[in-house]
Amino acid sequence: MTDIYKLARKNIVDMKAYSSARSIVTKADVFMDANENPLEPELDILGDTCINRYPEPQPEEIKKGISSLYKTKIENIFMGRGSDDAIDALVRVFCEAGRDSIAICPPTYGMYEIAAQIQGAETIKIPSTADFDIKPENILKNINNNTKLVFLCSPNNPTGNLLNRNSILELCKKLENRALVIVDEAYIEFAGNTSSLVDYTESNVNLVVMRTFSKAFSLAGARFGVAIANRDVVSLLNKVRAPYPISTPSIIVIKKMLEYIMSDEGSKAVKNRIKTIIKNRNSLMEKTGKLPFVEKVFRTDANFFVIKVDDAKGLVAFCREQGIIIRDRSNEPGLENCVRITTGTEEENNKLIKCFAKWSKK
Ligand code: PMP
Repeated sequence: MTDIYKLARKNIVDMKAYSSARSIVTKADVFMDANENPLEPELDILGDTCINRYPEPQPEEIKKGISSLYKTKIENIFMGRGSDDAIDALVRVFCEAGRDSIAICPPTYGMYEIAAQIQGAETIKIPSTADFDIKPENILKNINNNTKLVFLCSPNNPTGNLLNRNSILELCKKLENRALVIVDEAYIEFAGNTSSLVDYTESNVNLVVMRTFSKAFSLAGARFGVAIANRDVVSLLNKVRAPYPISTPSIIVIKKMLEYIMSDEGSKAVKNRIKTIIKNRNSLMEKTGKLPFVEKVFRTDANFFVIKVDDAKGLVAFCREQGIIIRDRSNEPGLENCVRITTGTEEENNKLIKCFAKWSKK
């Protein structure tokens, strides 16, 4: 047993996980144990898929695929409806309401704090450095014995930059037996292959890496993401998840995508698409940077970027009138009058530039 169990909420450690029908038996001739409808729906929606039956709670075949894709052991994988599910499960396992806290380094992804609020846990905010990186000593100085989770996002949303990996690993070492360090790598594929910290989850018991199929793999609608962590963390996360989190249609989509990504053709195609998005992003950044109302274009390692303008609110409202939605991030610390732009298709990017040009002439 690792010290992970000492960090987790006692009632979660002590409770027995719900034993759903398909967590006990997954293969048989006749299933009469789960109160399902034995008939396929009258309307043939998905062909031969047994949509009338509950799916496997954590489908083995997908786990195997994930294990080859991310080069990690099967026992280290937790799967959910997007990485948002993993964030929620982590906070529920480790933070006792009214006592424990999480730490975040704003500006960063908003769901960490929301998950903590839902759980009744405090959020300790340790602002990132001027270039949106982390300083381990700052984090260590500001957290306390009841801080169970430190959420880091690399590349960070909304700023787009990768965090310094040595700082993250230093933090992991210093927090060993004290807290988990969660690295949200939702956008990591856009930052190059060698940037992920998945490999380090083996040697750092308190490191959790989250990955998602929503971004580089174009499957936001399928809702699928994973947490890669020590087996004890995975086993605790499995106690709080929904009995059947991943729907049968999603399983079909994810299986197909995994097969494709693992093939020579598919892996090349995905890489090429990422290259195209980065090329288009760079071109959009360059064009945006030339506009008179743009004060700064921030460097990024993701499929989006932030610009500082003279009137963020006005610009976002104007774009909206023209049918284009970009995100005002002005309320985030260090991002006054800043707007986040997600790279679109070439055509969409051109529309945005035209709209920006109109705004400059106003
Ligand atoms: N992490 C970050 C940093 C994100 O920006 C998002 C979505 N915007 C998520 C996690 C959630 O992604 P999903 O649940 O689709 O995997």
